[in-house]
Amino acid sequence: MKKKHLIVGAGVTGCTIAACLSHRGHQVHVIDRADKIGGLCADTKETQTFGPHIFHTSDERVYRFISEYTTIDGWKNRVLASTSYGLLNFPVNLQTLSIVYGKRLTANQAIKEMESDREASATPMENAESFLYTSIGRKLTDTFFRAYSERQWKMPLNKIPSSVVQRIPSPRLNLEDGYFNDKYQGLPDRGFTDLFNRMLDDPDIEVSLNTPYEQSMNDDYDVVWYTGPIDQYHNFKHGALPYNSVYWTREYIVNDSQGNAVINNCLNNPNDDVTRSIEYPLLGKNVYHQEKPFIIHEHSVGPKHFNDRDGKFTLAYPIATEENQNLYKKYKDEPTDPKVRFVGRLANYAYYNMDVAIKKALEAVDAALGVWDDKALYEQEEW
Ligand code: UDP
Repeated sequence: MKKKHLIVGAGVTGCTIAACLSHRGHQVHVIDRADKIGGLCADTKETQTFGPHIFHTSDERVYRFISEYTTIDGWKNRVLASTSYGLLNFPVNLQTLSIVYGKRLTANQAIKEMESDREASATPMENAESFLYTSIGRKLTDTFFRAYSERQWKMPLNKIPSSVVQRIPSPRLNLEDGYFNDKYQGLPDRGFTDLFNRMLDDPDIEVSLNTPYEQSMNDDYDVVWYTGPIDQYHNFKHGALPYNSVYWTREYIVNDSQGNAVINNCLNNPNDDVTRSIEYPLLGKNVYHQEKPFIIHEHSVGPKHFNDRDGKFTLAYPIATEENQNLYKKYKDEPTDPKVRFVGRLANYAYYNMDVAIKKALEAVDAALGVWDDKALYEQEEW
């Protein structure tokens, strides 16, 4: 039986759920307290609003789903790290290794160099420092990770969860210089906001912006998909969950370029609080155009809560320390109205890449309505 659904939040998760449900003929109302759709992936013709987002996945289903609404342009993010050795390919590759170790290295020689620099630890997964020291050694850790991570997370490397730095591919013993290892990579050819608009462009989907959620709204719907912060849903009754928070500044440039879409600041300079600098016209294949060109600098302010938001920074990253996980668990275990489903990175307090958010949203709809044979459905011509 077709149902009436409320989706709280018009970010990646909410838009994916809305698109799936409307494909199945359900009636969907998407609300968002913000004045625009797309969550932290939102962009304009000039720039991405909340830091660099690049789509990448090796998941065929996710790629097939997103390709219904856009063309992923195949652009590859090649990040340069500003280090005491100069601008180097990051993640570490054979060229980077040769420069850091001061001699041209073959793959086997590079392995030996890293091995001689590694340190044993009884608890390598305990934190980012122990993970890095045991896997890539002290020199690479201190060159690429310590200053950037401490500037970004505002904690010592040995307090940062190891899961954070495990996102970065391990050193490559070849000259591959892309940031990601995934099969499909790039930007939607007309940007992310255009993609989300297409996902929501269906007569069965109504979108209301500037519309905060209230639990009393549940009464009007059969199912509620809540993709907002889980602590906010429960009125912060156990205390607010912290998010590492960031803000961006613009530096206008005239007839100039930093030469690369993204440059990470790995230098150990306490007076410089920029983590990375982004030149959006160089990000993607011809997606962003600026009349007065500028570089965006990203700065971190460390842990903040949804209830101390002052509009000057963005709550960007859940912080997966044990203490925060325990707090999240209290919210997760709270009894709730059975018609409400909690999906997405804010509702699950998890650091998801975009493709993981989409995959989990597709699976959440499967779990509610039965597995969706999207391949067969999309192959039909008319809807
Ligand atoms: N990181 C680092 N140096 C770099 C890039 C990343 O130390 O040059 C660490 C840092 O702790 C960061 C984490 O690796 O938070 C994950 O990086 P990623 O680029 O995946 O972060 P995101 O793009 O999600 O901000």
